[in-house]
Amino acid sequence: MNILEYRLDQLTHKFEKDFGKGRYHAGALYREIFKKGNPDILEVKEFKASPGFCQKLEKSIDLLPGEIVDRFTEDGLTKFITQLWDGQKIESVIIPMANRNTLCISSQVGCRMGCRFCQTGKMGFKRNLTAAEITGQLFNARFILKQNIKNIVFMGMGEPFDNFEAVIQAIRIMNEQKGFDIALRHITVSTAGLIQGIQKLAALDMKGLRLAVSINSSDENTRSWLMPVNKTQSLALLKKTLQAFPLCKKETFLFEYILIKDFNDSMEDAVKLAEYIHPLPVRLNLIAYNPMDGFNYESPSDDSMYAFADVLTQKGVFVIKRWSKGRSVSAGCGQLGKRC
Ligand code: SF4
Repeated sequence: MNILEYRLDQLTHKFEKDFGKGRYHAGALYREIFKKGNPDILEVKEFKASPGFCQKLEKSIDLLPGEIVDRFTEDGLTKFITQLWDGQKIESVIIPMANRNTLCISSQVGCRMGCRFCQTGKMGFKRNLTAAEITGQLFNARFILKQNIKNIVFMGMGEPFDNFEAVIQAIRIMNEQKGFDIALRHITVSTAGLIQGIQKLAALDMKGLRLAVSINSSDENTRSWLMPVNKTQSLALLKKTLQAFPLCKKETFLFEYILIKDFNDSMEDAVKLAEYIHPLPVRLNLIAYNPMDGFNYESPSDDSMYAFADVLTQKGVFVIKRWSKGRSVSAGCGQLGKRC
């Protein structure tokens, strides 16, 4: 068993069933692995007196976060590549913030959504990650790369709601107070707009967990061309689903909009986007398109991004003016999956 796929209550249950031990030992192991990154438990006080039990544990419990096989850094951003047990590789990005770092995490190897602006979409779908392969990225960032990670965004490779159960299990593990201890309000799940996934999330009691939606156009036809998921899960349906989503007071959705020069960056696009957003509570993240092979569009200029943002701001939309980082290491939005 890979311990990285267990919540504390599940591990306690396993200890009771397999070893006749309880919360005391399960809690100690959980603390050592998830809080301290220490797999060497022989010297830990709760286990010192029971070397026989330690041996049994070592035989039945593995710690397999995947091996970091490469990493690239620029402007403080670090992209690292993890090789999984079957040779597949996934990418994660550490984004430095003022007081704490954000880890952009992958939920699948590849992706079946096929968004045209996205390098991962070009790879196609290889397989889902297990919960342990998702939490393993956090383990590696914290304990192997020694980064102080306090925020998680599911904006790496894959569509999180296409791997719903594993993603939710991973979030619950990351949220475990006696372990990684990342508050739900510091975790953002970003979707291309899978209606069923949004509805399933709404039915769970995960207050505070943030929901981001990749919008990129407020015109049905344009969005269907750019993001094929829109053909069956239209903007209209998406808005209806979001209106029914049980947000807490003062909570907002995060909308992501990749601005592509002469494609979706006109003033008319901005007006239409503001109309689509109204009356949803939204913070809008504008991201400059990162040019990639096979999609012949360009990044907009800073001036046109400000002009676009101004139209939205005047219409009462809260716009985050933080343009994309990490272009040269292919760590910007929609660029994971591209080898440097
Ligand atoms: S943008 Fe997201 S959903 Fe779309 S293809 Fe890329 S990884 Fe998949």
